[in-house]
Amino acid sequence: MTKPLFEKVALIGLGLIGSSLGHAMKRAGLARHISGHARSKETRQQALAIGFIDTVHEDPRQAVAGADLIILCVPVGICGALSETIAGDLQKGAIVSDVGSVKSAVIKACAPHIPPGVHFIPAHPMAGTEFSGPQAGFAELFNQKWCMLTPPEDTDETAIAKMVEFWTKCGAKVETMSAQHHDLVAAIVSHLPHLIAFNIVGTADDLEDITEREVIKYAAGGFRDFTRIAASDPTMWRDVFLNNREAVLTMLEHFNKDLAQLTTAIRDGDGDELFAHFTRTRHIRKGILDEEKS
Ligand code: NAP
Repeated sequence: MTKPLFEKVALIGLGLIGSSLGHAMKRAGLARHISGHARSKETRQQALAIGFIDTVHEDPRQAVAGADLIILCVPVGICGALSETIAGDLQKGAIVSDVGSVKSAVIKACAPHIPPGVHFIPAHPMAGTEFSGPQAGFAELFNQKWCMLTPPEDTDETAIAKMVEFWTKCGAKVETMSAQHHDLVAAIVSHLPHLIAFNIVGTADDLEDITEREVIKYAAGGFRDFTRIAASDPTMWRDVFLNNREAVLTMLEHFNKDLAQLTTAIRDGDGDELFAHFTRTRHIRKGILDEEKS
């Protein structure tokens, strides 16, 4: 048997992303031992029963003791407090990482607690579903999806290379960028689409002339897709918008400007403007599909 990449990996948070990582690590034989911690006993017991971890611990400090890789898989708003809790039990040379959908705020909250000699390599796998919890995970979640690494400057190159290998073996394609740039990219490709979905589904529900029954009965195509996205975990998404505020507000400004232009075109009956806009966006969709095929 070839030597695993890590001796002991600690997963802090055993929901969709934590459990998918556990399954992906088991599939690729990346860790000799996987320990886990989650807030509730129910989640810990489920995770152990499913089998994507080897041991569970009520105390996160016990989960990280002796680990050479620790991955925070919890909502971004709690990453700082958990880093502080585990700081005293991190061994020298270990790598601490996370999977949070926001990077600058997580770095600001966690970095001050990472002891000298421990490497901090934040990550964000751009992969997910609208489901949560330990039963939602599966080994293929990261296959062919991008995982962004945002290591602070001066991070040890060997540790970065190890995390690139880790995510590649979990099935992902890896890119390294600054946390600030990541947050802008994530705001437009992920956070704003979710906000629009949360908004439109709420708007449809609030309408007085159209009943909730009709919305459910006739939901088709676009609206149905929006309801899937709008079913995503409320805690996770609350934390995303609270922690990526500036980037989301910047993108919302662009969005509102463009929406105002489309509103004017509809009001003015400007078919050419609408046709030109929809032609441009159809072309972008084709580009995405071509990229996926290549
Ligand atoms: P999830 O399925 O809701 O799981 C969250 C896990 O965190 C649960 O095991 C929960 O434990 C645990 N947790 C919450 N608060 C805790 C605390 N105070 N102490 C210890 N454990 C705690 O969430 P997820 O979808 O895996 O998301 C986890 C992270 O991945 C988030 O930062 C999110 O931004 C990021 N992410 C999510 C997606 C996505 O599509 N879902 C995609 C990419 C990245 P209990 O079950 O006991 O409450």
